[in-house]
Amino acid sequence: MAECIFCKIVAKELPSRLVYEDDDIIAFNDLNARAPLHVLVVPRRHVERLSDLDDAALAGKLALAAARIARDAGHGDNFRLVVNNGAGAGQSVFHLHFHVLGGRQFTWPPG
Ligand code: AMP
Repeated sequence: MAECIFCKIVAKELPSRLVYEDDDIIAFNDLNARAPLHVLVVPRRHVERLSDLDDAALAGKLALAAARIARDAGHGDNFRLVVNNGAGAGQSVFHLHFHVLGGRQFTWPPG
C-alpha cells in the first residue's frame, strides 16, 4: 500500500528502531512509547486490521514473536499485548500491529 507508513517501514523507506525481523514479520520500537518497553509487531504484508487476517500461522507468529520480545527484554512474566482493531477501538495506523508493552504497572480496564 503506497501510503501506508508501516508498509514504508517494512520496505525500509522510512526509518525505524528495529527489534526483530524475519520473512513474515518485523518489530520495531513505537515512536511514542507508552511504557519502557513498547514494541510494535507487524506482518510484512499489508493487512488492515486483525479482523481482516485469515492466516492462523501468521497470527501465531505475531503472538509468539511478541512474547519472545517481551521475554528478551526482561519482561516475560509481566507484559501486555494490545491490538486496537478499528478506529472505535483506538486504531490509528491501518496496518495490523500488536503492541507489546512492558516495564511498568498496568491497570484494568484499559482506557
Ligand atoms: P494504533 O493507535 O493502535 O493504530 O497504534 C499506532 C501506533 O503506531 C502508535 O502507538 C504510534 O505511536 C505508532 N507509530 C506511528 N507512526 C510510527 C512510526 N513512524 N514509527 C513507529 N511507531 C509509529
